[in-house]
Amino acid sequence: MSGAGLAVQGLSVGYGPVRALRRVSLEVPEGAVVTVLGGNGAGKSTLLRAISRTLSFHGGAVTEGTVALDGRRLDTLAPDRVVAAGVCQVPEGRQVFARMTVADNLRAGALGGGGPGRAQALDRVHALFPVLAERANQRAGLLSGGEQQMLAVARALMAAPRVLLLDEPSLGLAPLMARRIADTVREINAQGTSVLLVEQNAALALRLATHAYVLEVGEITLSGPAGELAASDEVRRRYLGVV
Ligand code: ATP
Repeated sequence: MSGAGLAVQGLSVGYGPVRALRRVSLEVPEGAVVTVLGGNGAGKSTLLRAISRTLSFHGGAVTEGTVALDGRRLDTLAPDRVVAAGVCQVPEGRQVFARMTVADNLRAGALGGGGPGRAQALDRVHALFPVLAERANQRAGLLSGGEQQMLAVARALMAAPRVLLLDEPSLGLAPLMARRIADTVREINAQGTSVLLVEQNAALALRLATHAYVLEVGEITLSGPAGELAASDEVRRRYLGVV
């Protein structure tokens, strides 16, 4: 890769005998929104877990390949060091701490405790998601699905990542809420954070992204500028429901 950014090279992953990714390579240039499209079980979550180094929590392991940010290897680091290096994942299914307050969920996302960095990050997420300031003292489990997704994104932003890994942020949300989340992703990107978005909602993802990859049964089968993929017959038929 010529410029700065996240680079995945020849990444293969297995869950025991199950091969979930085969020699996957992709790039998220600095400042870009890149999407990975794929159906159920294609390996999208696995890819994000491999980058964030949380794969072992799910019984998986990288068998070959590298992940680097600006040329610095991430694939040898512990998950908390990956966050410290600037890459933070929002897992699928939101996974907020339901019994903790909204404010405590956000605190849990901040690196290195308190200080001016945290205050600044909190101001930023409250500006992006005013509802989280209004509900600061409410238990996270009482928020709506869309608000929980906002909280999950906000919690990741508390670590001030350079690259945000988003796993199916629109899953289970009503179309209006999915659009609001998409607008926020655009805003987060405009503020300088790169985004790697995995989505089954291809229409939404292709509107947000500059570049897209198609993942099928663990392999990248297509890639290109998002507009080109959106116009391709195969993507239209398989992922955009156009017959
Ligand atoms: P979905 O949208 O359904 O989450 P996905 O594209 O994110 O799909 P993955 O969850 O990454 O796909 O799964 C890729 C492959 O790895 C699938 O064959 C899946 O069954 C397998 N897999 C995923 N997680 C595990 C696990 N913890 N243990 C064993 N196999 C797994």
